Amino acid sequence: MQHSVSAVGIVRSCFKEKFAIPRQPHLAPAARGVVELIPPFDQGDAVAGLEQVSHIWILFLFHQALEDKPRLKVRPPRLGGNKSMGVFATRATHRPNGIGQSVVRLEGVEPGRLRLSGIDLLDGTPVLDIKPYVPYADSVGDARNQMASEAPPSIAVQWHDNALPQARAHALRLSEPLVELIEQCLAQDPRPAYQVPSPERVYGVKFWDVQVRWHYPQADLIRILEVVRER
Ligand code: SAM
Repeated sequence: MQHSVSAVGIVRSCFKEKFAIPRQPHLAPAARGVVELIPPFDQGDAVAGLEQVSHIWILFLFHQALEDKPRLKVRPPRLGGNKSMGVFATRATHRPNGIGQSVVRLEGVEPGRLRLSGIDLLDGTPVLDIKPYVPYADSVGDARNQMASEAPPSIAVQWHDNALPQARAHALRLSEPLVELIEQCLAQDPRPAYQVPSPERVYGVKFWDVQVRWHYPQADLIRILEVVRER
């Protein structure tokens, strides 16, 4: 049986690449973006009433992880990338139909534009549907998940010399909480679980229009080296 769906909007996000995006929403409250609604949903009618809601479900397409052949088992990064699980037991991006779902904070509602925070969504993500979060139904007090019983452990993050003033200057220019965004995302330790980097190895990622570079002076510490604008 085949059905077709089409996007109702596109995400414009602080995250310009998949690397270093938190594994779930809320882990980086400073991660902000907007959904730009596509006609005919760009009219005020489509979002009327949404101003009464603090959080929304975003149903979206993992457009940079689509595959022709569905996988039955996946290796979630959360389990170190070396243990395979049934695809339906995980929130892996490689999945049938490539559909993702995230509960995010709704910061503002305008015709054609929803402002969001706490997102885990790549820039350009197609949005398939948007629904209000309903606390009495969606928050399950006795829910359990033995594979992911709590948020992933975080790692210490330090700023080197000029990196913090650089980040503050770009935060002012962008009018975005860039310092918090960098600290919150890097505290999730984006490196693959199996990598034990030497202190010389430099990692980098783009948030908004700036490149953030860091290294691991020791296994359990990130030091941010620089925050520079990419032209
Ligand atoms: N909260 C969602 C869910 O449970 O369906 C997403 C969880 S998934 C494990 C989160 C990861 O998806 C992020 O770390 C990011 O690398 C990746 N991601 C986000 N947007 C994407 C997109 N449009 N295409 C491919 N991967 C994406």
